[in-house]
Amino acid sequence: MTVSATPPDEVEGALRRSEERYRMLVDAVPELLWARTSDGQEAFFNQSWFAFTGLSEEELRSSGWLSVVHPRDRPLVESHRSHAHEIAQAYAVEARFRRYDGSYCWHLVRVTPLRNDDGGIGAWFGSAIDIDDRKRSEEARGFLAEAGKVLATSLDYETILASVAHLAVSHLADWCAIDVVEDSSIRRLVVAHVDPAKEHLAQRLRDGYPPDSTTPRGVARALATGEPEMIPEISDAMLATSVKEVELRDLLIALGLRSAMVVPMVAHGQVLGAISFATAESGRHYSQADLNLAEDLASRAALALDNAALYRRTQEAVHERELLLSVASHELKNPLASLLGYARLIHGRLASGKAPTDKDRYGLGLIVDQGERLSRMLDLLLDLSRIEAGRLVIERAPVDLGALIGRVVEELKPTLDVHTMTYDKPADPVIVTGDELRLEQVLRNLIGNAVKYSPAGGPILVRIRRNDGQARVEVRDHGLGIPADAVPHLFQRFYRAKNIGSPTVGGLGVGLYVVKEIITRHGGTIDVRSIEGEGSTFTFCLPLP
Ligand code: ADP
Repeated sequence: MTVSATPPDEVEGALRRSEERYRMLVDAVPELLWARTSDGQEAFFNQSWFAFTGLSEEELRSSGWLSVVHPRDRPLVESHRSHAHEIAQAYAVEARFRRYDGSYCWHLVRVTPLRNDDGGIGAWFGSAIDIDDRKRSEEARGFLAEAGKVLATSLDYETILASVAHLAVSHLADWCAIDVVEDSSIRRLVVAHVDPAKEHLAQRLRDGYPPDSTTPRGVARALATGEPEMIPEISDAMLATSVKEVELRDLLIALGLRSAMVVPMVAHGQVLGAISFATAESGRHYSQADLNLAEDLASRAALALDNAALYRRTQEAVHERELLLSVASHELKNPLASLLGYARLIHGRLASGKAPTDKDRYGLGLIVDQGERLSRMLDLLLDLSRIEAGRLVIERAPVDLGALIGRVVEELKPTLDVHTMTYDKPADPVIVTGDELRLEQVLRNLIGNAVKYSPAGGPILVRIRRNDGQARVEVRDHGLGIPADAVPHLFQRFYRAKNIGSPTVGGLGVGLYVVKEIITRHGGTIDVRSIEGEGSTFTFCLPLP
């Protein structure tokens, strides 16, 4: 048997071809593959490495594959590696790798030792596969679970907003701002930055450049439309053309923004505010998955805020009730005490067969007055509960408002001691459509207050005018007047201004609330002008048919 030896150059050629094929295969796979000699030299990187990192072979060789691992993941990778080297075993670890555009993607890294014939380690082979989608959805689930827990622990508005901002900068953004809608204007309540050293820039952005409701972009747009907005890539050039104010532009450039999202917080169809997320130093670019996550966070935050608002309203209602109970019991007790006192006195005298005296007659008058006062207060409380239950009925018929005022003024005049009431009568009837009894209640209430809140007496003027298709009625007094800061609250239920003095002018803080409701239900408006110490003018307008 003859054995023919293969010529050496054929062997070499076959080896070269085999290596080329192997090389092509290694370059064709999407995984990142590399080899490292046991003395620590980076020996080989496949094409996917260059495409993924944007680095040259030279750069990768000199800085090593660990240089593209996210700084926060590096300690974990290094500890796995040194342990694996000690025990000469393969290892696997998950870490983020920096891509050519500066963003990071999660990879599963597996590194295996290649043994020599003598059993020693000749090299380490590494592979990394992209697990970003799985990792991000795991993170998203964990993040939302944590958000749910954190948001469920508080019913306080400010605490919830601070938690949302904290959650955002710890998972989703380098920079976060929260704006809420309050009394139809936008208020930036929270600004947070992942880097405390840059917090002051963010604060400047909050204080110097609050969101502008007239600008059709960013927060204002999200609040107006209820739609989110994402800018995956922000460049300085983009800021230079889109932001006109130089200082604001410089500030945004100094923040180093890379990518941004604005997501509205919507609960029960109502836009409560918006959360702005932005990345800077992390170099992250937002994707649709990030936007979905941000929307999830925003809707959880909105529900938490809605619950907090509901809780606050409930607490306020409870407090209001308590206040009403204590004021009402106090206000009802006084007339009742004097009514009972006189009733007992007269009853005692009549029971012992004595003839009624002038004092008894005075006492009877007082019993009637106090009884009427009690009855008026109870009527007010009844009206209050009717309004709250939506059961305040307004009849509609033509009413001569001028004549009605005349009658009420004439009836009240004899009850006044230190006041003089004048009615500036209209020349012709002023007819409105409405509920005569309820309108009489309005007049009695306003005139009653004019008397009550001018304890030193003085003139009270009532007048009616036709003005701009409306009947305009004014009740003017020269009494205590109303502190300017109290004016916006006067028509709220249970509100009593500080001018009620000491000894206090009695009252429940319900009259003007009911008055406003009656006027509004007639399609009218009511207003007040007042100077503290000089007097007040209450004016209501009703539409003329
Ligand atoms: P009440 O008189 O029972 O307190 P109202 O609802 O009628 O309740 O009035 C609310 C508050 O408005 C009063 O407590 C008082 O502070 C203020 N106010 C109302 N009318 C006048 C007035 N003519 N002059 C000064 N203050 C007034």
